[in-house]
Amino acid sequence: MKFDKKVFLKDVENILRADFACDLATANKKELYNAVSKAVMQEAYPDWIAAKRQQKKRCGYFSAEFLMGRAIFNNLMNLGILDGVRDALASVGEDLGQFEEVEDAALGNGGLGRLAACYLESAASMGLPLDGYGIRYRYGLFRQVFADGYQKEEGDDWLKWGDPWSVRVERDAAIVHFSDMDILAVPYDMPIFGYHNTVVNTLRLWSSEPVTAFDFETFDTMKGENKAVENFNATKICDVLYPNDNTMVGKLLRLRQQYFMVSASLQDIVRKYKAAGGDFKALPEKFCFQLNDTHPVLAIPELLRILRKEGLSFEEAFLVAKRCFNFTNHTIMAEALEKWDALALSDLLPDVYEQIVACQERLELEGLDPNKFFIIRDGTVHMANLAIFVSSKVNGVAEIHTDILKRETFRHWYEQYPEKFVNITNGITPRRWLLLNNPKLAAIIDAKIGGAWHTDLKQLARLKPYIGEILPDFKRVKGENKEKLAAYIKAREGVEIPAGFIFDIQIKRLHEYKRQLLNAFSILHFYFEIKDGKMNDFPPTAFIFGAKAAPGYYMAKAVIKLINEIAKLVNGDPDVSRRMRVVFVQDYDVSYAEKLVCAADISEQISTAGMEASGTGNMKFMLNGTVTLGTMDGANVEICEEAGRENNYIFGATVEEVANVKRGYDPLAVINADPALKRVCDALVNGTFSDDRGMLVRLHASLISGHEPDRYLVAYDFADYIRVKKRLLYEFGTDEFYTKCLLNLCAAGKFSADRSVTDYANLIWHIN
Ligand SMILES: *Cc1c(COP(=O)(O)O)cnc(C)c1O
Repeated sequence: MKFDKKVFLKDVENILRADFACDLATANKKELYNAVSKAVMQEAYPDWIAAKRQQKKRCGYFSAEFLMGRAIFNNLMNLGILDGVRDALASVGEDLGQFEEVEDAALGNGGLGRLAACYLESAASMGLPLDGYGIRYRYGLFRQVFADGYQKEEGDDWLKWGDPWSVRVERDAAIVHFSDMDILAVPYDMPIFGYHNTVVNTLRLWSSEPVTAFDFETFDTMKGENKAVENFNATKICDVLYPNDNTMVGKLLRLRQQYFMVSASLQDIVRKYKAAGGDFKALPEKFCFQLNDTHPVLAIPELLRILRKEGLSFEEAFLVAKRCFNFTNHTIMAEALEKWDALALSDLLPDVYEQIVACQERLELEGLDPNKFFIIRDGTVHMANLAIFVSSKVNGVAEIHTDILKRETFRHWYEQYPEKFVNITNGITPRRWLLLNNPKLAAIIDAKIGGAWHTDLKQLARLKPYIGEILPDFKRVKGENKEKLAAYIKAREGVEIPAGFIFDIQIKRLHEYKRQLLNAFSILHFYFEIKDGKMNDFPPTAFIFGAKAAPGYYMAKAVIKLINEIAKLVNGDPDVSRRMRVVFVQDYDVSYAEKLVCAADISEQISTAGMEASGTGNMKFMLNGTVTLGTMDGANVEICEEAGRENNYIFGATVEEVANVKRGYDPLAVINADPALKRVCDALVNGTFSDDRGMLVRLHASLISGHEPDRYLVAYDFADYIRVKKRLLYEFGTDEFYTKCLLNLCAAGKFSADRSVTDYANLIWHIN
């Protein structure tokens, strides 16, 4: 984008006057943020409007979550005006950095939502016509604070800074029909700017409103009580994002959200297609849809419903839907695979349910074993099965994950329809996750190999011959990033971390399968060793955690409490705090992630093998030149393939071993056989921590009793984890170690979301 400082400041001033009745001299931070953003938007409208008029086939990325993070810096960077705007503001005494206070758009839980955000950015940057469709939650993922080491949740009022990067498109509003109410869906469109290429795609988020404007008179006199109640309910649909990651919650409001989003999106798309004179049977030549997990799978029966209303037979509609839809599976964990009560679904959405029944009948026509192939069974609708049956392509998100889908989770389906199954390994956008968050490292790379890697990440391999040369600069920049992070943590968390320590970081949602508990156990073990004087040369290390736990997930919250207790113990003990610190940062989000991944020495990716579909956090660290301490799980496997297993620190049971271990696993025997492990386990219940309120006792019990004790093999992997982690800590700091870091960076090319979306475009969407 062309940038003229004078014109820009004039635009900003005009917006300040018109919208806020102030000027540059008097505007407060929020007013300035809105005016700056809107001034940029004004400039971008022509490209955006032109893009919306294009006739090429487009793909709609349907997702209940988009974890966008902060928009302003990324947008300015992609438009090529980051420095221009910074200078313009500086010339009037304003610092662009002040907008770091602006809320993240956290309309997602974790990896799945962040993936959607990366894909939108990458598709725009690759010139691929991909638009996002989702929900404009009034409140995003909760804000996390700790009180006495316990997680407390607060509402995430992400709109309090305004929403200057969206426009309300009233004219595309649609009515979504439920059996008990009609709701107006109004879209807010957010431009997605490609990197330096004038491409603008769209993220369309639907907001729910009453169909008729709120009727104060009837509300006041209570004559129309039902009407008032309906208006109240309508706005509620989009009130809040469900804060569960990788678990299914069978709440009717969630079902309403899912239908609301797909119905509004498809009604709008089909309406426009029809108005342009399109033949419905040719719809797949203009549109396809990627279903991001099962959350938007109601789109399938909804499209069938709409097409049948337009006069197509079921078979005709079915063949159109089949060519339009594709499905991404994100997890093999049973508790996350969505199932809905058939009765509840048919009560709420009778016309939609009718189409699901028709799909079940269509499936039965294929004459397959009904015990293996079903959509509705025993009064339950299985959303993943519906998605697989109707979709053209089904994909897993890393090689190991897709293999497990084929071999186990969806084995029958794979054997019946092998051509449907493909793998597309996840990726991250290198713009946000290197260029923007780590500009100094990016500059080192640019100086050696130029900037082609910004949109062609495989180019990083060309850096390999220069590793020796850039090693000192790399170390220096990592050190500076660590200083910056330490200052930030001091300010936000009140915890002192010497920047000279090794920064060992685990950031991701809190989940038992991700095994933050295993990490906590290792820290406790090192603490005891240091206390006993057995590790007087322990390399000074800061163990840093960031994670939100689902508010109703007791064990996850117990792990947070435990780690905060360990932090209190360690940081408050002068014998030990010279050698280690522990901090659990509050309210981990995208912006925090940007600061953490560029300052890490160790990337903890320690899930039980087979449980993490891919992970994308692992890729962010790798791209910033960090070694992985991890299991052979998810994309870690491919990271080792690309960067060399010898350049990472791999431990623990493999997928095959996990399956074997689980037959007749006796964690208590494992614990009793290992004094070091026994000591850390006992610490949960023997008064080592003064404040436990029963939580730590239950955590302890989860390892040794119940239906499936130590389901995630913490005890089993403990010894190997300690062995490898120790080796890593003692190898840290040598040139050989930093060479490993850079070898990982050089090998990160595969994990660009640019490669992922290009694969989707070629193999699945056919829009390239
Ligand atoms: C990347 C990211 C995730 C996903 O992290 P994993 O380690 O892959 O689970 C979750 N939350 C945020 C804020 C992220 O940026």
